[in-house]
Amino acid sequence: MRRLGVLGWPVAHSRSPAMHNAALAALGLHDWHYQRLPVPPEVFDPTVRGLPELGFVGANVTIPHKQAALALADTATDEAAAIGAANTLTFAGGAVHAANTDAPGLLAALPASPAGQVALVLGAGGSARAAAYALRTAGARRVAVWNRTPDRARALAEDLGVDVAIAPIAADLLVNCTSVGLADGGFKELPLPADGLGEYATVVDLVYRDGGTELAAQARHRGCTVVDGLEILVRQGALSLSAWTGREAPLETMRAAAAGSACDHHVPGTSLPSQRGAPSGDR
Ligand code: NAP
Repeated sequence: MRRLGVLGWPVAHSRSPAMHNAALAALGLHDWHYQRLPVPPEVFDPTVRGLPELGFVGANVTIPHKQAALALADTATDEAAAIGAANTLTFAGGAVHAANTDAPGLLAALPASPAGQVALVLGAGGSARAAAYALRTAGARRVAVWNRTPDRARALAEDLGVDVAIAPIAADLLVNCTSVGLADGGFKELPLPADGLGEYATVVDLVYRDGGTELAAQARHRGCTVVDGLEILVRQGALSLSAWTGREAPLETMRAAAAGSACDHHVPGTSLPSQRGAPSGDR
């Protein structure tokens, strides 16, 4: 069996296993399997180094390991190195190769190229870094980053050659890369009134939750083109899957699986020692 997985801590409610296993089945890759890999930070490096021996050919990486994944890799794409984080690892010939599909995944999910547009990115964590990098390199006229903690926005802006926004600015494109919206309560922690959302032609919300987010719902209500977190998940996952299998990813199958399931079937013999005792809460 060729094994794939998603490394995170916690990772219990990731939709990636359902999405990838549906895609692998649709491609007829019946000897492939994708699973959750709940790995605490203190054993991340040795666990990843041991994965190839267990039959793993690659893994996605999520919170909190994206920077550690880049750091341990033997080689990395220019994109991952510039962003400072990796979400896709490939194991070949005893080496670990790191890539970042969050950036091209965002661009693939947009309804049109951001070239010449003004973009406002909310957040300064790993996904905001990928979004700012993607938008700048795709030719956005201006990329401005707002963050709750301004020092982090300043550091991101300096690293990636984008602007800092002290307060939200008018833009063609709004990209929420904060975790606001995961919990109940809408997006009142963001400095964006709902009735101002109509000023953004396109609103992208990386956050996904059952029933959709309030930000996406309010933006839709005001006539914005909305790209939700599930589409972002599908697009970055599709690029990872193609990198591992060399096949074109079945997007519709992946969309249906990501939207429809938070559960994964278990294949006997595919658990790691660290899966015992993993916490059950997740983003
Ligand atoms: P991260 O590195 O932990 O960054 C979190 C960001 O959210 C920081 O900028 C943080 O601001 C901000 N934030 C947290 N709580 C906030 C609050 N109450 N008010 C205002 N800002 C707040 O996380 P990440 O990896 O960038 O991911 C961010 C979100 O995107 C997560 O919800 C994640 O699940 C989602 N995501 C989705 C996909 C997908 O495929 N759909 C991919 C990647 C990420 P401070 O700096 O001030 O703490």
